Amino acid sequence: MAMKSILESSVESMNNAASFEDFIKIMDEVNRIRNNVQSMETLVSIRYSINTDDDFYKTEKHYWDEISPQYEELNSMFYRAVTESRFRDELEKKVGKQFMKIAEYALRAFDPCIIEELKEENRLSSEYTRLLASAKIMFEGEERNLSAMGPFMTSKDRYVREEASRLYYGFFEENEARFDELFDKLVSVRHSMALKLGFESFTELGYIRMMRTDYDSDMVSVFRSQVSEHIVPCASRLFERQRRRLGLDSLRYFDENFEFETGNAEPKGDAQFIIDGGIRMYSELSPETKEFFEFMMEHELMDLETRKGKGAGGYCTYIPDYKAPFIFSNFNSTDADIDVLTHEAGHAFQVYQSRWIDIPEINFPTYESCEIHSMSMEFITYPWMKLFFREDTEKYKYAHMGSTVKFMPYGVLVDEFQHLIYVDPQMSPSERKAAWRELEKKYQPHKNYEGCDFLERGGWWLKQGHIFKNPFYYIDYALAQICALQFWKKMQHDREGGWQDYLRICEIGGTKSFVDIVSEANLISPFEDGCVAGVMKDIDAFLESTDDSRL
Ligand SMILES: [Zn+2]
Repeated sequence: MAMKSILESSVESMNNAASFEDFIKIMDEVNRIRNNVQSMETLVSIRYSINTDDDFYKTEKHYWDEISPQYEELNSMFYRAVTESRFRDELEKKVGKQFMKIAEYALRAFDPCIIEELKEENRLSSEYTRLLASAKIMFEGEERNLSAMGPFMTSKDRYVREEASRLYYGFFEENEARFDELFDKLVSVRHSMALKLGFESFTELGYIRMMRTDYDSDMVSVFRSQVSEHIVPCASRLFERQRRRLGLDSLRYFDENFEFETGNAEPKGDAQFIIDGGIRMYSELSPETKEFFEFMMEHELMDLETRKGKGAGGYCTYIPDYKAPFIFSNFNSTDADIDVLTHEAGHAFQVYQSRWIDIPEINFPTYESCEIHSMSMEFITYPWMKLFFREDTEKYKYAHMGSTVKFMPYGVLVDEFQHLIYVDPQMSPSERKAAWRELEKKYQPHKNYEGCDFLERGGWWLKQGHIFKNPFYYIDYALAQICALQFWKKMQHDREGGWQDYLRICEIGGTKSFVDIVSEANLISPFEDGCVAGVMKDIDAFLESTDDSRL
């Protein structure tokens, strides 16, 4: 890697810079190189996901996987040069507090003495992924993996839903001992890393790894209490309405994801129809979104349709050298296709508006903040949903808002569970499951696991990958969502004001921390009592005003 010696000597010159001006000049050059490396890496991963059979990009990706630890080491050198610089105060004024904190946190989360533990953590995480992928479930005459069971688990035929769900959770029960052992090892390796780095438990280190620079676990618990008090009752009412709508005696665990006997709202046309709708929507929404979407179209920065050999899922990423976002998805003719055009495009719009930022760490803000932009766009574009769903528009909005409300209690449940786990790393597997089941009773009192002993014992979370692979990464979705809902509320009566607030936080990108971004957006912080109650009344009224028995 020729880059390596150039970067090493540049960082060395940063350390020896005679004046602040010199320091900045060299730092700009270092960032130019880092942006270039990042662009290469992003292009390789995009090309690979577009066609996973392409040997050239397969090799390139493998090369990057091999050398990326070395590159991380170079970044650490750079972070040290930044945080230990004698020009630190001037620098902080120029690049902002948030970047300095990120550099500091990256250094605090790492020390050569935990390299073995980090490797072990990676190995265990990959083993979890492999274990999930190993599922081979015989169903309706064919061997299927876990995701292929999805459509059957939401089948119109209740018997099929039940049978598919029984087999799906049966896989987890059959492999329960392996999942338990993996998780036990993950908890203990994380705990020992935390101790080596001088923390009391993994919780604090987990927050640092997530770059939570301006809030702590006490503040998060204030938010969780609000969800428990103000959202859980509303979610329970939604599940009850669902039971009535479906004409069931009781809503059992395999019924939860089945919303309408008449099927979910679907886009009324093919991929081109959806893209045409997107062009019209973004050109009507604002001059900024019009320019953005035209840029995406003109430079072919969206690969949306499913093809053989394409990687799974969807994402938005950014290529710094071209100042270009990129959106990837696999259209499947469901309402999820429209979410790509709103959610992923929300991410892309933010990073496009903040393309003036030349420091790769802060093109996107941290996780809980960057989801504000994407989730809010889902609500900001409500007035255009009729372009895609026509007579099903009301059904789409009811289901979209409903699933948002139903998600929130689950989001904080996953978070509270992880706090319990890492404060007491000695818990046994059955104690962990019992703790999970208790939390379900608190946050999801509607749950009915009759006939499924495994779920009744608290086994649900074994399928929640974040808990295994990305500790503490989950509350982010709930924090961002409550901000998005505030945008929804505001834009009902002050569309222009709300839009200007949204635009402003797109432009600042990742230069600010979560609480600061929330305040720049003129929103109430989720850590403040009253935040959740403040939107729930309107949401309740919105949901109540829909006669769902007609949908
Ligand atoms: Zn997102």
